[in-house]
Amino acid sequence: VPEPTFTRTHRTTHRRKKERGTHEVASVHEILDEGFVCHLGFVHEGSPYVFPTSYAREGDVLYLHGAAANFALRTLSAGADVCVTVTLTDGLVLAKSAFHHSVNYRSVMVFGRAEAVTDPAEKARAASAIVDHIVPGRSLDCLLPTDEELRATLIVRVPITEASAKARAGGPIDDAEDLELPHWAGVLPLHTVADPPEGAPGYVQSWRATR
Ligand SMILES: Cc1cc2nc3c(=O)[nH]c(=O)nc-3n(C[C@H](O)[C@H](O)[C@H](O)COP(=O)(O)OP(=O)(O)OC[C@H]3O[C@@H](n4cnc5c(N)ncnc54)[C@H](O)[C@@H]3O)c2cc1C
Repeated sequence: VPEPTFTRTHRTTHRRKKERGTHEVASVHEILDEGFVCHLGFVHEGSPYVFPTSYAREGDVLYLHGAAANFALRTLSAGADVCVTVTLTDGLVLAKSAFHHSVNYRSVMVFGRAEAVTDPAEKARAASAIVDHIVPGRSLDCLLPTDEELRATLIVRVPITEASAKARAGGPIDDAEDLELPHWAGVLPLHTVADPPEGAPGYVQSWRATR
């Protein structure tokens, strides 16, 4: 059975190093679920903006939240085209030559139009999803937003329908004539790890494992 894939569009057709790209839904979802910071890129009055923010994925929807006055989210909910990116950095790739240095990564780009979530039940669900995306299960262990807090919160929904992923893995790819050079070459793996919690000890002992 073929993997479900997103329909490729002119925007999501990989051109450079296209063998590293995929449109598989599962790959896109996996990267979105592992990351927890996204960047929202859009153009407002001719000027580009890229905002870092948190998010959650529920099925084929990304939820973003902020204050009701949030400029980026208000611009998106007014119908601006958005490109949302999520990047996971897996390693620094040191080659013999500066030219072949690289980064091992997994990343996603989602294109679409956002809309404001107005249904109070969906807003409440999305707010919990964002908290749970950062620390799984946390919404069951904190005070949930009041109706007033939800009214002061703008939540927007971006459909995940036009999306691509791309990944690099493995060691440096040096030119054959450089392989005997004395410079160190290899990969420095990178991971996001949490230090012991500050404040009250004994909580969230294995944040990375739970994610
Ligand atoms: C941490 C990190 C470091 C990188 N460093 C470099 C670098 O130094 N130099 C460099 O040239 N490239 C780098 N890349 C790869 C870069 O993201 C682009 O894939 C690459 O530059 C090709 O760009 P392009 O403008 O030719 O895109 P094209 O191949 O023309 O892109 C067309 C479409 O392919 C898809 N696509 C392209 N790139 C990605 C991606 N990364 N993730 C998901 N979908 C994608 C999108 O749908 C995009 O609209 C890096 C990526 C990451 C995540």
